[in-house]
Amino acid sequence: MSSRKRDRSGVPLQVCVVAVGDELLNGFVVNTNAAWLGQRMSQIGVQVNAGRIVADDEIAIAASVREALTTSDAVIVTGGLGPTSDDRTRHALALLAEVELVRDVRAESVLRERLEAQGRTASVQHLTQVDLPAGAAAIPNSAGTAPGIRMSIGDHVIYAVPGPPHEMRAVVDAGVVNDLVRRRRSFVLTYSLRTALIPESEVAAMIAPLEVRHTGVRVAYLASPAEVVVRMTATGDDDARVTALVDAASEDAREVLGDAVVGEASQTLAQAVVGLMAAAGRTVAVAESLTGGAIAAAITDVPGSSAMLKGGIVAYATEAKEDVLGVDVDLVALHGPVHPAVARAMAEAVRARFMCDYGIGTTGVAGPTEQNGKPVGTVHVAVAGPHHVVDVSLHLHGDRDTIRRQTVVQALDLLRRTVLGLPPRKGPSSD
Ligand code: ATP
Ligand code: MG
Repeated sequence: MSSRKRDRSGVPLQVCVVAVGDELLNGFVVNTNAAWLGQRMSQIGVQVNAGRIVADDEIAIAASVREALTTSDAVIVTGGLGPTSDDRTRHALALLAEVELVRDVRAESVLRERLEAQGRTASVQHLTQVDLPAGAAAIPNSAGTAPGIRMSIGDHVIYAVPGPPHEMRAVVDAGVVNDLVRRRRSFVLTYSLRTALIPESEVAAMIAPLEVRHTGVRVAYLASPAEVVVRMTATGDDDARVTALVDAASEDAREVLGDAVVGEASQTLAQAVVGLMAAAGRTVAVAESLTGGAIAAAITDVPGSSAMLKGGIVAYATEAKEDVLGVDVDLVALHGPVHPAVARAMAEAVRARFMCDYGIGTTGVAGPTEQNGKPVGTVHVAVAGPHHVVDVSLHLHGDRDTIRRQTVVQALDLLRRTVLGLPPRKGPSSD
């Protein structure tokens, strides 16, 4: 392996993540370590080009890492570093490098001290965790007893990190990130923007001229109900040049997409709305019918939302809209519960009831069957503010879940736009 050199100029450092564990293969544990590592690597301009999952078996682990080294510069192995007999990663690395396991005296004393501080003594079993393949180095683990391992094979490098996610993160940040940054000859930079309520095809059409203007920047689109994330990526050897490329492209993208841009994609729409409301010192309450509390849930998912959310009422039945919220009985009798006037009345009622700056109301037919002669996908969303009430009427497509999720995006974005003094925008699957 050491004899094979590749010309990598312009290509970022490639990493393969090998996740070890029977529990990952049989589905008892979800491979969140790979997801976290993917994000962490993209932050440092290193590319995860492959991922594997392998059983707690030393021959299988060694084979998987060996194969990973044929397509990647570095391999990060997660899991199997513990003290029990099913933890085989250190043995697999020794097998791969054709070396013995040797006790690392420095790691041993760190381990002994850590256990003594907890009033425990190091057992024979504990100490197996500091037996490392000869020539490998220990990476400190501030969150647990098993150190990580760094081992070079030719011009490739293998890192082994513990499986428990908080230990994995501690070890990666202590000894993997810096090492990879040092090795990186070329790097990738990504910037992502979140847009709401524009169809993916329309976003792509707006961005298309930019792709021509900014050669060297790759654009990717990630769509979810009613939202599109635009990701711009550049690669190169010169940090400053790559940064300038991505900056210029993202500035242009913000300009052409205009007020459909919610913010950076690392923030959810709910986070952006909470941030906006909290900064402006504004409060909101929600009255939900077809969304059944999903808007309140999206808002309360965000830490700090208590600064802007006063509360919510799920008024699902028609009587609840009248009796609990105080929507006019005659209004409902006249129009039926699925009507823009009812969404507006719900928004106004909840705003008054919770004595806040804004109220949101949603009513509609999520399906699977029509209701009072209104087809599935008929949705009305309203936002009542200090000065006026706005509403949008939608005919959404998709199943119950999709319709409800789109309604949540529509409601949060209607609030965002109203607070910013922008006119309402209708969702993408609406006709
Ligand atoms: P320990 O000392 O706890 O045994 P270890 O390094 O040997 O640590 P494993 O035995 O492979 O790690 O995994 C321990 C636990 O860590 C698993 O039961 C699981 O809960 C979690 N875990 C392992 N791998 C992953 C992964 N890829 N993604 C998310 N969680 C994981
Ligand atoms: Mg284990």
